[in-house]
Amino acid sequence: MLKKILIANRGEIAVRIIRACRELGIETVSIYSEADKEALHTQIADYSVCVGPAQSKDSYLNIINILSACVLTGCDAIHPGFGFLSENAKFAKMCEECNIKFIGPDYKTIELMGDKSKAREVMKKANIPVVPGYEGDIESYEKAYEIACEIGTPLMIKASSGGGGKGIRIVKDLKDFKLNYETAKKEAKACFGDDRVYIEKYIENPRHIEFQIIADEHKNIIHLGERECSLQINNQKVLEEAPSIFLDEKLRKKMGDIAIKVAKVVDYKNVGTIEFLVDKNKNFYFMEMNTRIQVEHPVTEMVTGIDIVKEQLKIASNMKLNLKQEDIKINGHSIECRINAQDIENNFTPSPGTITELSIPSGFGVRFDSSIYSGYEIPPYYDSMIGKLITYGENREEAINKMKRCLFEFAIGGIKTNIDFQYEILENEDFINGDFNTSFLNEKMVRK
Ligand code: ADP
Ligand code: ADP
Ligand code: MG
Repeated sequence: MLKKILIANRGEIAVRIIRACRELGIETVSIYSEADKEALHTQIADYSVCVGPAQSKDSYLNIINILSACVLTGCDAIHPGFGFLSENAKFAKMCEECNIKFIGPDYKTIELMGDKSKAREVMKKANIPVVPGYEGDIESYEKAYEIACEIGTPLMIKASSGGGGKGIRIVKDLKDFKLNYETAKKEAKACFGDDRVYIEKYIENPRHIEFQIIADEHKNIIHLGERECSLQINNQKVLEEAPSIFLDEKLRKKMGDIAIKVAKVVDYKNVGTIEFLVDKNKNFYFMEMNTRIQVEHPVTEMVTGIDIVKEQLKIASNMKLNLKQEDIKINGHSIECRINAQDIENNFTPSPGTITELSIPSGFGVRFDSSIYSGYEIPPYYDSMIGKLITYGENREEAINKMKRCLFEFAIGGIKTNIDFQYEILENEDFINGDFNTSFLNEKMVRK
């Protein structure tokens, strides 16, 4: 088993990983920025090292300082969490060169899946259903327009190196293509330092349903069922659940088998997620693979009883999976509400500040993964997600009622949050009936 690891992240996921390590007897080193001296992850690790100023590019994305901290503190491995360097193939490669185990797949797999149009191409060749579209390089605007005419509207322009819902544009009418193409390229350049984009058919009113994969380094690959992630605002997830009420056993088996096939095609190692779009006729398409732990992994943990972060650590320690596909049973239902420091009235803009009062709900089947405490000052430099509230129930109705009870009890002072908005979702008839798709929040709840 690994002895000492560095966690190259912050916030709730860093805390989540430190907790798993402590339970497994693995020593931990946190890194922190100058803005995060008082952060929970800085305080609860065995050791903490400051890696630079507040801005992410100077600290949490500062590869040289992070690798130096890792070597100087004598760590065997780095856990990248999600966001930041988690899908940075160059970073994973440098870890390997420094003889540090990167807790995730090989850098070549990250590189391939990180290039979303390349990943599409590979999957299409392997007979995996992908969203109809164009793979290959688009050299010029003229070429792009030609492809757009061929695919037809509605279509989507997406950043090849994209993530976090950024660099995505929908085109409903070809006359708007030029403007959208140019803005997508600009946003892609600004967010990912890579202005390449690709074009695919826009699937109307789809569901986003994803499968959790676990693969060891001995060619054993299983999946832990699906997560329903259709509740999004501007392509970013807000509330997730497992299982999805849209799937029946037959479709679940079919999609699960394909998810495993995707992982096999790239000789996948460690945990990852295959994201699919499912249309109203239940046709499903591979959208992308996330080669890291996912924000919403807890809902899968709740319904399978498997600690996914511990599995990551065991796999990185070269241990064999001691689970088989037939051992995986989905029990009950789980829901996660992302708790964001946001001003709902003001277009969901981030609302950092000091938490003056805090009362966290608890009770049977309730979990709160977070990094906040009373008196904590949320810095303005990072993502606005400050915690994830997760409930478990025997069935969906119980999980929903429990979540409503928890959101009702949740008291947080000094900052604005999306707690009331989450409550509204849970009260919505269409949500309760399971009648929603990826446009639901934007159309029915944000611009109502
Ligand atoms: P998930 O796919 O795990 O549900 P998200 O897509 O919401 O998660 O991304 C998780 C976190 O990582 C978010 O804070 C998001 O802003 C950030 N993120 C995702 N992809 C990237 C990326 N390519 N570059 C930078 N940050 C990213
Ligand atoms: P990211 O890497 O930013 O997560 P994704 O490719 O996963 O990007 O897309 C993010 C979201 O955008 C999806 O969850 C889905 O809601 C929407 N989306 C992406 N591609 C399509 C498409 N072809 N048709 C309809 N919606 C899409
Ligand atoms: Mg995605």
